[in-house]
Amino acid sequence: MSQPRDQLGRSLTDLRISVTDRCNFRCTFCMPEDREYDFVPRAEVLSYEEILRLARIFVSRGVHKVRVTGGEPLLRRDLERLIEGLAAIEGLDDLALTTNGLLLPKKAESLHRAGLQRVTVSLHSLEAATFSRLAGGRGDLAGVLAGIEAAAAAGLTPVKINTVVIQGVNDHEIVSLARRFRGDEFVLRFIEYMDVGTLNAWDPASVVSAEEIIRRIDAELPLEPAPRRHANDVAKRYRYRDGGGEVGVIASITEPFCGDCTRARLSADGHLYTCLFSAVGHDLKAPLRAGESDAELGERLDTIWGRRSDRYSEERSARLERAAASGGSAEASDEASDVLAGEARVEMFRIGG
Ligand code: SF4
Repeated sequence: MSQPRDQLGRSLTDLRISVTDRCNFRCTFCMPEDREYDFVPRAEVLSYEEILRLARIFVSRGVHKVRVTGGEPLLRRDLERLIEGLAAIEGLDDLALTTNGLLLPKKAESLHRAGLQRVTVSLHSLEAATFSRLAGGRGDLAGVLAGIEAAAAAGLTPVKINTVVIQGVNDHEIVSLARRFRGDEFVLRFIEYMDVGTLNAWDPASVVSAEEIIRRIDAELPLEPAPRRHANDVAKRYRYRDGGGEVGVIASITEPFCGDCTRARLSADGHLYTCLFSAVGHDLKAPLRAGESDAELGERLDTIWGRRSDRYSEERSARLERAAASGGSAEASDEASDVLAGEARVEMFRIGG
């Protein structure tokens, strides 16, 4: 079976599947509390059978890594049934899930038994007040920490922990977070604050660069660079010189990695997005429900991927550099911010990070 290549020669190897657009948190940089959300009606949400059928077609095109996301995926009932089905697909050799962790104490064991291999937990603070503020007053720190321990106890190790760093909000916790998640059971990854969606009033000045994050950790916990495991891995890896495990940074703003991006996203209502920041989704649900065969759906996927030319993060960085070079002139920064804000990326929280 042919493996489609996009306009930049990139293959398709990773699929992120959003199983719901709903969430039990209201993180300020993703789904702010002060907004109304018109969630996807249940009848429009892909069933597990539909997701599995599409996943098999993606695998036939070269996908071997699947990440289940949301919203908050653990809110979806009987998720074990989907995990079992995905784990049974030949050629799919890496099955992971991203969660806010609160429901993991109830679900970690059963998801691992069903075939889940890895879990990533989003945790942005170890201070109860900051945690609560960032989560929109929902969820609790102790519950998420218990979720992380439950994932480790269930064997979903190393448990990855993703922390979005925002200047003046939680950047003072970089070293304490690094200290908290050392060792082989955990891999902490710091994420540069991104302009995802159009709801987080993103400001480039709120970004703490990957270089700065590593500098702060290295000053107290000496680090050495570690090679990427795969060319398309998003995180830059570092090992603690004292053997205390590793830490990573995801530098979408200061060191964009679009050139190696082989990721696609399937939204809960069956739209294919070829970039985290793309405003246009390609509807796969309608042709699937209209009776298209697997072969026809596969050709449709080939066509969509073949036309892909996304490299938003690289374009954004070029615009920010231009804005900076022009001395941050209003026009240039307006141009940069217009581009950053204008193109509707409203779908973000429906297609999972
Ligand atoms: S911005 Fe889009 S193309 Fe670039 S790495 Fe992210 S998802 Fe891939």
